[in-house]
Parts: sequence; C-alpha cells; structure tokens
Amino acid sequence: MVRENEIRVGEKQCALPETDDAGLVFIGTIHTPWTSRMETPRQGRQDGPVCRIDVLPLFAPALAGLEHYAEVEVLYWLHQSRRDLLLQCPANDGNPRGTFSLRSPVRPNPIGTSRCRLLRIEGASIFVQGLDCLDGTPLIDIKPDRCAFTPIAPPQKGDFEVAE
Ligand code: SAM
Repeated sequence: MVRENEIRVGEKQCALPETDDAGLVFIGTIHTPWTSRMETPRQGRQDGPVCRIDVLPLFAPALAGLEHYAEVEVLYWLHQSRRDLLLQCPANDGNPRGTFSLRSPVRPNPIGTSRCRLLRIEGASIFVQGLDCLDGTPLIDIKPDRCAFTPIAPPQKGDFEVAE
C-alpha cells in the first residue's frame, strides 16, 4: 500500500543525524504522467508510458554518446519521501521490515533507480520508458546500463579472438 507520510503500526522512526552534505547537484528534472504517489507505479516497466528527462542546458554536452545505448540507468531524488524510518510496514500489516531490506522510497537518502529503455534524445531532453517517479522529480544522474567497459568503441579486429 502506498504511503503519504504516516507512521504505521509496528514502524520505527529515528532522529536523523546532522546533515553531512554530500554536495549533490540536481542535473535536471523528470517529467512523468504521475502527480500523486498513490497512482505512481511501484516499479517502472519498460513498456510503461514515455517519460521525458530534461537535463539542465549546462549539462547537455555530457549526453554525447549516450544515444548509442538501448538502456540507461536513471538515478533520482525521491524528494517527497520522509527519511526517518528504520522499520517499515510496506503492506501496512503490522509486520515491520528494515528499511535497507526494502526498495521503499522512504530511506535516509531517498535515491530511486530505474533501468529504462532509451527511446531518443532531442537536445537536452531524453525520452525513456521504465520510470516510476512523480512529475517534477529531481534527476541525480544518468548512466548507460551496466556494461563491461565504457566507452563502447567500434569492434576492432581481434576483439573477439580468444588467445591461445
Ligand atoms: N524504482 C525505484 C527504486 O527501486 O529505487 C523507486 C521505487 S519506489 C517503490 C517508487 C514509489 O516511490 C512510487 O510508487 C511512489 O509511491 C514513490 N515516489 C515516486 N516519486 C516520488 C517522489 N518524487 N518523492 C517521493 N516518493 C516518490
């Protein structure tokens, strides 16, 4: 059951420590069809709605080469989350589980990640499928999906030959 900000029976809260600022820079904004956490999917699907990621113009040059990838990993800041729960009851059934054993948006550092299908890039806008965040969610990072090495250079003669 999706939460707003309530504390449920069995959950445990903490007083957060003083901020030790990691100096995060939001690099853009994610646009999705969802304006309420209640209607946002729990996990994105690569056949889900097309969403637009607007990267700040300042960072547009950093997108060069991303178009070669079919999948990207998107990291975002779940900015409406509470951050102080140690134990949570995702099903609101009185059975608490540790925050770090869950993919709940409620966590000390509310970072969400999704593997997305990359459809196209237009200027500083990236069109993807596979997100599960609210419209207006701040973007932290975008990376090519996990690969053995980067950048992917065109195959060279001998790349796939096995050494004797
Ligand atoms: N796919 C990510 C992950 O696994 O790290 C996030 C999963 S989290 C379960 C997705 C849920 O977070 C959504 O269903 C919605 O309830 C909530 N959510 C989405 N965007 C949010 C935001 N900007 N602030 C707070 N909660 C958000």
